[in-house]
Amino acid sequence: MFVKYLECSRCGRRYSLEDKPVMCRNNDLGRLDIYYDYKAIAEEIDREVFKDREYNMWRYLEYLPLPDQQYRVSLGEGWTPLIKAKRLGERLGLKNLYLKDETRNPTGSFKDRGMSVSVSMAKYFGFDKTVTASSGNAAVSLAAYSARAGIECIAFVPHFTAKGKIAQLMIYGAKVFRLWWKTSRDPTVEMMLKLIDKGFYPSPSFGPFNPYQIEGSKTISYEIIEQLNWRVPSQVFVPVGAASLLTGVYRGFIDFNETGLINGYPKLVAIQPKGNYPFVRAWIEKKPAKPEAIEPWPHPPETIATGLEDTYPWDGDYGLKALYETNGYGVVVSDQEIIEAIKLLARYEGIFAEPSGAAGLAGLIKALEEKRIDRDEEIVVLVTGHGLKDPEIIGKITGETPLINPDLQEFREAAKKYYGLEIK
Ligand SMILES: *Cc1c(COP(=O)(O)O)cnc(C)c1O
Repeated sequence: MFVKYLECSRCGRRYSLEDKPVMCRNNDLGRLDIYYDYKAIAEEIDREVFKDREYNMWRYLEYLPLPDQQYRVSLGEGWTPLIKAKRLGERLGLKNLYLKDETRNPTGSFKDRGMSVSVSMAKYFGFDKTVTASSGNAAVSLAAYSARAGIECIAFVPHFTAKGKIAQLMIYGAKVFRLWWKTSRDPTVEMMLKLIDKGFYPSPSFGPFNPYQIEGSKTISYEIIEQLNWRVPSQVFVPVGAASLLTGVYRGFIDFNETGLINGYPKLVAIQPKGNYPFVRAWIEKKPAKPEAIEPWPHPPETIATGLEDTYPWDGDYGLKALYETNGYGVVVSDQEIIEAIKLLARYEGIFAEPSGAAGLAGLIKALEEKRIDRDEEIVVLVTGHGLKDPEIIGKITGETPLINPDLQEFREAAKKYYGLEIK
């Protein structure tokens, strides 16, 4: 176990794991950043040791905070494929385009990585009930891992949560409450806060309320490095809501860098939708990498990318640091551009993403237009969530399907009408 201490990102108060810390006791909504003994890890680890390890995210045990593996709660998350996108690359004029397919995680999004770590820590600390605030995916993951651990789960989600995610929540046995979202304040966070002093373990996907889940997202970066045969890619495209994923991805590269496994960083690129971009706005305005410097979005979010609906990016301070220190940048995309990206992923590479999951690709296309990429750079796009989670939006994109009798003439007519196909 290599955790040295946890330190509040706002007041600097330090904790050890024996304190069972989840939130800063000074109640200042700082994030308890976890610091590892890099020197000790480096002595234990080199590139070779991973060869014999299990193919899931727990192969990076030394970089995770769980002190005792008997409390591990796992569904086999991680080690998702890094797919070389040949057809899509050709279409976009890129020679080395890779897709990190996070839709392959147990509940269909990268949030499983974080919730596996978070629920393991809840088990280790001895909690028997947990609560979350989420637009959907984090709650879904928490519900699944809570079920696996035998822990009760209460989930607060907004009224616009996608149908597929509600179905998942219900079937995993979470107690789900949908909340009306009418102002700029996120009602799910408001409700979660009301339960924290009632013995619930808070486990949303952002740092100030739970520091452990970010540790899971770090493993995405470790995997990218290993899957690229220890090369550091040139740019990594990350969709951003609360900026916790971006924080985790950056911290993953820091970990490998500081323990001597790689040398250098990719540019990290943050993508947000036009109807809610408080984080990218802070980057455009060159705000300092401090939580109080970032202003919340002034209205409820308006985008089909409901996984990117955080009106305040809770981990935006660390996320800004990620952009500034890797020479990265932010990109804003429209819903139409996200829809285009969903189609391209599905029709050129066979990958089905929900809107938030395809936003990274929409950001890449924008960045190409803005001439921020050379044709032979090694580019990685994170595809973060599965398309079946949001079937309604897909119905709107693809239109109607013909319904016919098993009759060749009817088939011919429908083929022509719906698909422009001429059949002899
Ligand atoms: C949560 C989520 C994101 C954004 O992650 P943040 O940590 O909130 O920035 C992106 N895509 C999907 C599918 C998500 O569920």
